[in-house]
Amino acid sequence: GRPVVAIIGRPNVGKSTLVNRVLGRREAVVEDVPGVTRDRVAYDAEWSGHNFTLVDTGGWEVDASGIHLRVAEQAEVAIELADVVLFVVDAKVGATDTDEAVVKLLRRSKKPVVLVANKVDDQKTELEAASLWSLGLGQPWPISALHGRGTGDALDAMLEVL
Ligand code: GDP
Ligand code: MG
Repeated sequence: GRPVVAIIGRPNVGKSTLVNRVLGRREAVVEDVPGVTRDRVAYDAEWSGHNFTLVDTGGWEVDASGIHLRVAEQAEVAIELADVVLFVVDAKVGATDTDEAVVKLLRRSKKPVVLVANKVDDQKTELEAASLWSLGLGQPWPISALHGRGTGDALDAMLEVL
């Protein structure tokens, strides 16, 4: 069947916004308040002539430890079913402990990963995004899911490992 591309990352990093950007229409639930997206939603998607299933993940945030558990749980299931993982990090926040925990899951899975540094709306944030090399997942692809900046290059990188 179609290859599965899973989008994982902490609540509010812009996963659903990226999904909408790829789909080219508003469908995934985007919320200013984290925690609204249903657990996992799959979409038929296409980029540059390649068809794949795009899986958006969400979760419900209760408290600090709850976020961590919930994200790890979601990430683990999504990684399991993915052929390629788009791991989204908020470049304005930088790598958090939760991000580091997800990196451990990704390493264990040995699945191909494209590291996406989202919310890079401007040149200044692009420079900050370079700090995400420290995650050890290779090049962080700077994008603004909201404005479309850099998303084409990140998706091209995704196709290369699909
Ligand atoms: P999710 O929880 O990871 O699915 O995140 P959402 O897609 O729901 O987005 C959370 C918030 O971040 C929303 O207010 C989005 O508009 C905002 N957001 C998403 N992408 C970007 C971006 O590239 N730049 C900025 N400045 N905000 C963004
Ligand atoms: Mg979402």
